[in-house]
Amino acid sequence: MAEQMLKFVSVPQRMPDKRPADQRRRDFGEIYQAFSTDQAAQQSSRCSQCGVPFCQVHCPLGNNIPDWLKLTAEGRLEEAYETAQATNTFPEICGRICPQDRLCEGNCVIEKGFEAVTIGSIEKYITENAFEMGWVKPPKPRRERKESVGIVGAGPAGLAAADMLRRMGYQVTVYDRYDRVGGLLIYGIPNFKLEKQAVERRTKLLVEGGIRFELNCEVGRDVSLATLRDRHAAVLVATGVYRARELAAPGRELGNIVPAMDYLTASNRTGLGDAVPAFADGTLDAEGKRVVVIGGGDTAMDCVRTAVRQGAKSVQCLYRRDRANMPGSLREVKHAEEEGVEFLWLTQPLGFRGRTGKLTKLKVQRMKLGLADAAGRAAPKPVEGSEFDLKADLAILALGFDPEDLPAMFADPDLAVTRAGTLKIDFRKFETSLPGVFAAGDIVRGASLVVWAIRDGRDAAQAMHRYISARAMSGAALAAE
Ligand code: FAD
Ligand code: SF4
Ligand code: SF4
Repeated sequence: MAEQMLKFVSVPQRMPDKRPADQRRRDFGEIYQAFSTDQAAQQSSRCSQCGVPFCQVHCPLGNNIPDWLKLTAEGRLEEAYETAQATNTFPEICGRICPQDRLCEGNCVIEKGFEAVTIGSIEKYITENAFEMGWVKPPKPRRERKESVGIVGAGPAGLAAADMLRRMGYQVTVYDRYDRVGGLLIYGIPNFKLEKQAVERRTKLLVEGGIRFELNCEVGRDVSLATLRDRHAAVLVATGVYRARELAAPGRELGNIVPAMDYLTASNRTGLGDAVPAFADGTLDAEGKRVVVIGGGDTAMDCVRTAVRQGAKSVQCLYRRDRANMPGSLREVKHAEEEGVEFLWLTQPLGFRGRTGKLTKLKVQRMKLGLADAAGRAAPKPVEGSEFDLKADLAILALGFDPEDLPAMFADPDLAVTRAGTLKIDFRKFETSLPGVFAAGDIVRGASLVVWAIRDGRDAAQAMHRYISARAMSGAALAAE
């Protein structure tokens, strides 16, 4: 059905159908159903085809959103897919997990009064349809090049770079210390946001395109960075950030207080069919427990919603600021509330208490918001005399992540880092302080978003190509002298 555009006045915003919360609580399936072709066309037709599309300006990939919306409304789905994939290596993944309310949709100009175009869901529809139609192809180059590149880290930054470099003809090897490809897409983000088959389907295409994966291979332990630099014409470091921030509070040493990534990884691995002893013995399983999650970001939201699905007796989330000042997506908070999570805003933990080495309760305190701090966010301050106890059998710490010590990990003190420990790069060249070593994703930005990792991976691939080409040309010039 071909639709005209600018229908936002007559066609109301409609998200794909969401499964009822009661059903969602019982499984790990994605919560939204897919759009039908007619629904996708109708929702696309709401776009007013802005001359200056703020949706595109606020998409980290600069996706050509108005064009693929128009093509979808007109039923020209193959062209819509071609346009969507021209700027985004994994549109079906971004369509699912970008915090659209803060990016493209949050800046759609028809939002005031009429609500935004449902851009993310349409992007997912276009790409899922393309997969069904067989339009999504492995990254096969037109011409092979002899040079090889090494990529450390099979998360979205590394994979986006691998895809691009392979399309340019390079021989690409991706090294990862995990046993599966995907980084946080596979072991961090839960299935109810991103079904693992979507990641595995992409991995299969990358392998079919000729990209080699060396898994269970930790660079710095199983192979040195120096070896990779000798082996490849250029190396990309896309190792993400994994050092969990700690909570220095009395009683922290008690059992049943666990870092968020341990908890989420155990859940994701169990879902993938792996035997996880710490899940089987109940340490990392929330079933039947009173669970308290500490933190207000995406990771905390994933933990509370995982605990609900594991059959927790109760799930509470503590965050020291209020709803308006939390770093996570408000859409995720809404989903969590629908699923039965209780949010204790403006509350922070003071300590943990327990019996026989196991947590039984947290001592917490109410907070109030003061003036904005240097980053422009309201600073929380304790409310005198507001302490109270919360019963808990499992506390999950989701306080954010810092980079590991990369110069030590890679045994190269010349690898320059910032004060935050992220890799220092020349932002025009994506090159680190080591010649021929590039970096992208969270290890450069600090904990960020998948869409930014993809953008960085794509940009770094271009920079690596320029570097290798320039060296090949200067080598040829020298040989000719
Ligand atoms: P990663 O995805 O972390 O991948 C890094 C890879 O490097 C890993 O596979 C790791 O094993 C490998 N590696 C590390 N060191 C070595 C080494 N020495 N040798 C070999 N391999 C190594 N973003 C969103 O946009 N939407 C969301 O909904 C969202 N939810 C999130 C939920 C959770 C729980 C978390 C933790 C993050 C979430 N994010 C989300 C953020 C997003 O996942 C990251 O920003 C993104 O994955 C960063 O990509 P990356 O490729 O830089 O790193
Ligand atoms: Fe929106 Fe993310 Fe898609 Fe960009 S990549 S259009 S921000 S959903
Ligand atoms: Fe369409 Fe909204 Fe983007 Fe304007 S801002 S082009 S209405 S999606």
